[in-house]
Amino acid sequence: MNFGTPQEMIDEERYFLESCKPKILAWFSCEITSAVACKLAIEEHGKQNVELVYIKIDSAHPDNDRFIKDCENWYGKKITIIQSDKFKDQFEVIKKQKYVNGVNGAPCTLHLKKNVRYKHEKQTDFNNQIFGFEFVKKEINRAIRFAEQYPHTKPLYPLIDAKLTKEMCADIILKNGIKLPTMYELGFHNNNCIGCVKGGKGYWNHIRKNFPDTFNKMAKAEREVGATCIKNNYLDELNPKAGIHKPPITPDCGTFCEIEFADIIDERTNEVMTGLKSMMQLQLF
Ligand code: SF4
Repeated sequence: MNFGTPQEMIDEERYFLESCKPKILAWFSCEITSAVACKLAIEEHGKQNVELVYIKIDSAHPDNDRFIKDCENWYGKKITIIQSDKFKDQFEVIKKQKYVNGVNGAPCTLHLKKNVRYKHEKQTDFNNQIFGFEFVKKEINRAIRFAEQYPHTKPLYPLIDAKLTKEMCADIILKNGIKLPTMYELGFHNNNCIGCVKGGKGYWNHIRKNFPDTFNKMAKAEREVGATCIKNNYLDELNPKAGIHKPPITPDCGTFCEIEFADIIDERTNEVMTGLKSMMQLQLF
């Protein structure tokens, strides 16, 4: 029997070991947390085993293109960019659906993010998915709820495992010579679509100051469909001094789905916070 040369046998074993490694789908969202979570996923699983995916929305800040390129250089790997084939931004969703936001959630989240993610998931052979929930109580709770509500994603949470907060992620990115996305530099807490329908009074006044055209565009869209972002308050009637926060409170709308019971703290959250158990030890999926 011919086993080949020693080098061929080593190569074959290496190939076998690589093919046994899990395939990981890592969601990159241009948030600093997801950027670091993707880096940790690559370090842990090897870049050949991780697919990095970004869901593009045209109303994101144009500086995101620069941040994507900087992160690709940092990772040594390209990021797959996918987008809804029906809607390019939240304004198109509002116009076509004649609905802004309400008790059933924002339709733009469904059409611009969730459906795009579901489609990519279905086309991808993955063992686990990576999400950038950070190491704070509220986010650990969301991560637990998410794993229970979407067990098929087999989610991994590298930031929680490494006890990294958003501030620590900002530090890691800056130390690697990457400028933070412009939305953070403008004082927004998240890097969402510019003009997020889930924003409150302070958020929208901050948008009015930094992106007056977007503010006016949303104010016009609200009147056209007869619905508002802020409950019972059309943007063209919004008091310019209302709800000013420092920094402005910005809504969450990550790549992941809206999570039910996200505000009700699961008792296991404390076990992770105090280091009693890891997320894996909770056996959520
Ligand atoms: S970030 Fe805001 S505007 Fe954009 S999809 Fe999510 S909810 Fe809609």
